[in-house]
Amino acid sequence: MKKKQKDPGIMDSTIPMRPKKNIALIAHDHRKLDLLDWAEYNRDKLAEHNLFGTGTTGSMAANRLGLPVYTFKSGPLGGDLQIGTAIIQNEIDVMIFFWDPLQAQPHDVDVKALLRICVVYNIPLASNRASADFLISSALMDKTYDRFIVDYSKRFKKEIN
Ligand code: PGA
Repeated sequence: MKKKQKDPGIMDSTIPMRPKKNIALIAHDHRKLDLLDWAEYNRDKLAEHNLFGTGTTGSMAANRLGLPVYTFKSGPLGGDLQIGTAIIQNEIDVMIFFWDPLQAQPHDVDVKALLRICVVYNIPLASNRASADFLISSALMDKTYDRFIVDYSKRFKKEIN
């Protein structure tokens, strides 16, 4: 029998993710070549989905892949926050975000906010190439998937009561 993945105490709702996913691509400057190389290798798989990106990463990906990529503002100009908002509004399903582990960014606080929102909304997130490979080759990428959303307010109340 198939085991149901559920904890009724904290899982309050689900968001259905359609087989065609909305994928956000973001890379800091020193990781852009790595992300573009990965994206090119996985072009056929990415072509089955809708692509989004921060300004520079998104336009570089569109050029390299020859696929439409909806671009938000550049990361340092608020693009990360726009993608965070899109996640909150259920417009992004999956995030490939190659952030730079060796260099501080002027918009570090935005990066932190975006990574936090990914956790809050249970967004599949890859920050390096191996994780991105596992994510893109997952059988769930082409299926409907009910993404659990934790009701943190409920959990918080449970913990203090
Ligand atoms: P960019 O932004 O794609 O516009 O360079 C990425 C980032 O720094 O978050």
